[in-house]
Amino acid sequence: MSRRPLVAGNWKMNGRLGMARELVTALRERRPDGVEVVICPPFPYLPVVAEAAQNQLALGAQTVSDQADGAFTGEISADMLCDLRCQYVIVGHSERRSLFAEDDAAVARRFLAAHQAGLTPILCVGETLAQREAGETESVVAAQLDAVVEAAGIGAFSRAVVAYEPVWAIGTGLTATPEQAQQVHAFIRERLGGLDHTVADAIRLLYGGSVKADNAASLFAAPDIDGGLIGGASLDADSFVAICEAAAS
Ligand code: PEP
Repeated sequence: MSRRPLVAGNWKMNGRLGMARELVTALRERRPDGVEVVICPPFPYLPVVAEAAQNQLALGAQTVSDQADGAFTGEISADMLCDLRCQYVIVGHSERRSLFAEDDAAVARRFLAAHQAGLTPILCVGETLAQREAGETESVVAAQLDAVVEAAGIGAFSRAVVAYEPVWAIGTGLTATPEQAQQVHAFIRERLGGLDHTVADAIRLLYGGSVKADNAASLFAAPDIDGGLIGGASLDADSFVAICEAAAS
């Protein structure tokens, strides 16, 4: 099964309007062929990123409400993201889980709301260092996946992406080795495959956690790693383009 590589840049709460326009214009001009590139800027910059991307780069949001509309001050619905030309949305990023108390069930509701609106969720899963050291990596990742399967059904994963992001590797400069990452990616594909082989073969699995220009190629060479979810390095055109090139090659 050949899966089209995907690289998504998660800007988190970084950047300003001028920077957003300049960075996306540079990425649009320098983006290599053979890789799908998704930009996930802060909500207010979605329109300017969409304009600068000129349909050459896909647009994603960093989170979404599980509610359709109503009295939910500060929240953004999946339909609103569609109005702003988003195709993707990150759900369950570890910062949302740890800083905003999103548990597996809350993440699953957001996934479902996004999916029902026609968005492609990028579901983040991953263990903390303590969980890895306790030998719980697979059970944690399985529980995170299972909660979403239970809420949305395995069929929903035919329009979804899963990002394995070990929490201990996010923004820390520590990266999982290609072997460590591949092991968990294979586990994810196998777990989904236990429910639906076709879905599991086709789904793109991204690695995230301190991916940089100099480690991207070795990670992306692993058979079950189909690209990356990139934080810090997505804010620099040279680094991000190099990572996209590594995914495309
Ligand atoms: C992320 O925030 O999803 C991420 C992987 O960050 P970084 O690349 O900075 O570790």
